[in-house]
Amino acid sequence: MVSSPGPRLRPDLEALPSYKAGQRPAPRTDITTYKISSNESHHAPLESVQAAIVAAAADVNRYPDPFSSDLIAAISSHFNVPPEHISLGTGSVALCGQIIQSAAGPGDEILYAWRSFESYPIWTGIAGAHSVQVPLRPDETHDLEAMRNAITPRTRVIFICSPNNPTGQIVDPAELEEFIANVPSEIVIVLDEAYVEYVPHEKRAESIRLYREKPNVVVLRTFSKAYGLAGLRVGFAISQEPISNALRKTALPFGVSSIAQAAAIASIEAESELLERVKSVVAERDRVARELKEMGYQLNPSYANFIWMRLSNDTEAMYQALEQAGLSVRPFPSEGLRISIGETEANNRFIEVARSVSIASAVPR
Ligand SMILES: *Cc1c(COP(=O)(O)O)cnc(C)c1O
Repeated sequence: MVSSPGPRLRPDLEALPSYKAGQRPAPRTDITTYKISSNESHHAPLESVQAAIVAAAADVNRYPDPFSSDLIAAISSHFNVPPEHISLGTGSVALCGQIIQSAAGPGDEILYAWRSFESYPIWTGIAGAHSVQVPLRPDETHDLEAMRNAITPRTRVIFICSPNNPTGQIVDPAELEEFIANVPSEIVIVLDEAYVEYVPHEKRAESIRLYREKPNVVVLRTFSKAYGLAGLRVGFAISQEPISNALRKTALPFGVSSIAQAAAIASIEAESELLERVKSVVAERDRVARELKEMGYQLNPSYANFIWMRLSNDTEAMYQALEQAGLSVRPFPSEGLRISIGETEANNRFIEVARSVSIASAVPR
């Protein structure tokens, strides 16, 4: 028998990193465990949102509205932007991919800070494009000057993740404006604002104004974090044409389900209740950060719903201690841990473990 070579796939896919999703904790009978590894909301959906989900379920024998007209109308009036400027995706992670597919191909360069959101290198690789990663500054903020200097004639897309996942830092609004003003207008600039609701208003970039002024700026938002709909997969981009058209062309047909559309509309309607939850998460984040600092850990401010501990060689030890205590967090080996803010009990347990580990190793960072 002639040996078969097997299916022929693109060899460059071998080099692609796989997305490392936050783990669920191992099942335990002795203690309650907590999944604080994916920056999800720990709150169950509001009753009004659950009711919208149940109502939409009665209709799932039909395809969803492919244009998501009602949801687009709701987003349009919420942000006071024309409906044609809104593009939906199956989570804003999908929109990151659509932007790259719309603007870049083999040999083109996608520029972003590193460490940042893991989807950027993956989508870049899928498109056959080349990642240009600019190290964060020592305080974990974007080095916009270095990013500006890293632009080449092949640069097609620049991602600015603010607050940055996983480090939690934001880009200074004035620095961002200056940066955008100095980027050639043919390069697409993506402002990935998945966590913007957790940032105090006075520290937020005026991203909607920036998109109005600049046809190359795309603002990315999601219903997965502050709005608590991670399981339903819906996010959106706000950009002028022609980018918004390109994002509709590259979207998965019927990708945003009717249930997701209904839940997102109900969430916009319940925004004030959801923002109360965001406030409580912010208060918890600041409490946890304060406690850690008092123990001697050096933390940069986090503006998201998680804490970043740069632990270098102590990462594994802290990860193991948290795992033992029933807390599943997101490790970045030899770099640090990203710990989502969760239930008060989860946050308290995290504080306790951090205290015991710092005493044991006596090398708080
Ligand atoms: C969570 C996250 C997203 C969006 O996730 P979706 O669930 O796909 O909407 C986008 N960007 C960053 C940086 C994130 O952390």
